[in-house]
Order: sequence, then C-alpha cells, then structure tokens
Amino acid sequence: MSELDTLIQLLARLPGLGPRSARRAALYLIKRREQVMQPLAAALGAAAAAIRPCSTCGNLDTADPCAICRDPERDPSAICVVEDLADLWALERTGAFRGHYHVLGGTLSALDGIGPDELNIARLIARLGPETELILALNATVEGQTTAHYITRSRASRGKLEHLTLAAAPKARRAFQ
Ligand SMILES: [Zn+2]
Repeated sequence: MSELDTLIQLLARLPGLGPRSARRAALYLIKRREQVMQPLAAALGAAAAAIRPCSTCGNLDTADPCAICRDPERDPSAICVVEDLADLWALERTGAFRGHYHVLGGTLSALDGIGPDELNIARLIARLGPETELILALNATVEGQTTAHYITRSRASRGKLEHLTLAAAPKARRAFQ
C-alpha cells in the first residue's frame, strides 16, 4: 500500500470522516504540505509523546498531576465525576464548575463485561475525604445510573454525600460534539 493510501485509511478512522472526506482531507494536506501537513505531523508526534493520564483524576495532560489538579484557584474538596474526557471538556467550557474532576473512563455495564475494576473507581473512592462534596455528572442512561448507585453505595460509609446528576453535562457534551 502506498503512503497516500495509508494516510487516507488512517484519516478515514477519525470520527466524522468517511472514505470520501478522508480523500478530500488528504488532498488538502498534500497541497499544503509546508503550511499544514508538516506542522500537523509534528504536532501529532509531540502530542502522542507528551500526553499522559493524570494519576489523580484521569484527565489527559502533558503534566502529571494535570493543570486542573494543580490549579490553586480550584476547590479540591468538590469532585465532579464524569464518564469521559468529553464531559470534562464540556463542563470546563461552561466555566461553571471550579472544583476538581474524576474521569471514570466509562460506565458499569454487565452486558459489555465492564465492572468496577475496568473503571477508575477505586482511585475515586481513595480520593474522598469525610468532607468531600461528590458531584455525579453521569448520563441518565441505565449504565450511568448503575454507576452512580455503585459509587453512592461505596461512599455511603464515608460521610456526607451530595448526589447530583447534572443534566447540563450530557447536554453540553452534545453541543461540544
Ligand atoms: Zn488531574
């Protein structure tokens, strides 16, 4: 397979791009090799090498702990639990939440064989102090609610609980995608 075919095949894997738009994108890149294609290749390489999950919250950043966990202006006693990074980004774009986050990396699903060990849940429970305000910004799906109940039960013996399902999170996420 030629380099061009490989490029088109890889571009076609991106969300929102099919084979036709992948060919258009490849053509665009080739025509703007110096202005776009080479800087893009360098940026992809640098990002792939530098980006890592935050060992505290699961956010992706070039530093660990991530910029949100390091921010002294943010309140570490409020933790907003989200399903994935898209939810975190959507909430950050609203600017309404000034606490910390915890990215689960999915939701519990017996059907798909996703149990607590497959998600970033043990680390969440370990982060919770008796005064931590826990905000569950999980989707109103069966899996999202099962996950919320699991976390609530795990938390029950550890002090106060703020159970809040943010309708804004999935809504903001749709707008973002
Ligand atoms: Zn973090």
